[in-house]
Amino acid sequence: MDRRRVIQGLGLGAVAAATAACAREKEAPAEQADTRTFNWRMATTWPPNFPALGTGANQLAEMIERCSAGRLKIKVYGANELVPAFEVFDAVSSGTAEMGHGAAYYWKGKIGSASFFSAVPFGLTTQEINGWFYYGGGLELWKEAYAPFGVIPMPGGNSGTQMGGWFRKEIKSVDDLKGLKMRIPGIAGEVLQRAGGTPVTLPGGEIFTALETGAIDATEWIGPYNDLAFGLYKAAKYYYYPGWHEPGTCLEAIINQKAFEGLPADLQEIVLTCCHAVNEMMNAEFLARNAEALQTLIRDHGVMLRRFPDDVLKTLRELSVQVIEEGAASDPFYARVHESVKAFQERSAAYLKVAEEAYLQARSA
Ligand code: CA
Repeated sequence: MDRRRVIQGLGLGAVAAATAACAREKEAPAEQADTRTFNWRMATTWPPNFPALGTGANQLAEMIERCSAGRLKIKVYGANELVPAFEVFDAVSSGTAEMGHGAAYYWKGKIGSASFFSAVPFGLTTQEINGWFYYGGGLELWKEAYAPFGVIPMPGGNSGTQMGGWFRKEIKSVDDLKGLKMRIPGIAGEVLQRAGGTPVTLPGGEIFTALETGAIDATEWIGPYNDLAFGLYKAAKYYYYPGWHEPGTCLEAIINQKAFEGLPADLQEIVLTCCHAVNEMMNAEFLARNAEALQTLIRDHGVMLRRFPDDVLKTLRELSVQVIEEGAASDPFYARVHESVKAFQERSAAYLKVAEEAYLQARSA
């Protein structure tokens, strides 16, 4: 087997680990196999077994256990089972959990640039963010951002382009955003505010009731698969696209650095390779299930699908650039990450125009 070919396409950490493992094998062929077993905990930001996101974390733990023939066992905890959802990063940093699964933008209060490693409005798509991570310097920047906390990040799933959200009334112009109370977190919330709306932050479990009672006028959540499961169509009929605010949200698998360094090289390699695998598998699951769920929403539940008008998207895009540029002006590391993403996106956008974008248009013409 050509090991060099196998390790191509893995992150630099994985390459280093694999190279070290190969070197050791050559120098000391008679060395005893390391048969120690390890028991790890994985804290997640998702309710237990939450469709695609929580089940993706379960899948990652199961893959690692199978690939290591049981030498590395990982017990997965849903939100609040080990620590609350928004304490997962701290739990992995302190070693309370050796691994975590969540999304980088949850930690933007701690690391200003964190949103770039999950999703920013009008930013990278799934395919692009993976290109940026593995071949555009993105993963190195992400590792640099988390290093002071003793945490190693890996892409650990992707939702694909999300939906724009559920609205109780139609959005026909920029004026309809004025006074709109919408559950929409992060940078996108700031963008909505500048467009005259009122962003609201609510945990997933409270969204349905808030929308049904009219406490909020609109909400974004994820995509058809998860939105159908939440029953959001019962609370609002208009389902808008595209998800300008989350064009290809990357989920993260995070690892306590000391715990990682305590693993034999082959187990390190297994952990990283399984993260790559789940990053791919989760996105595949989202595509298949979202496509099916969208049909169900339209056919069985009478959902009215709407595209945001062009002038609304233009306004949101301009405001997004403004918010992000301001972030870059006040934080040098944020500025570095932003520059890297911006340069990558300019190149990939020009390429995708003549690749996927042109093909999809040609296919549906
Ligand atoms: Ca979302």
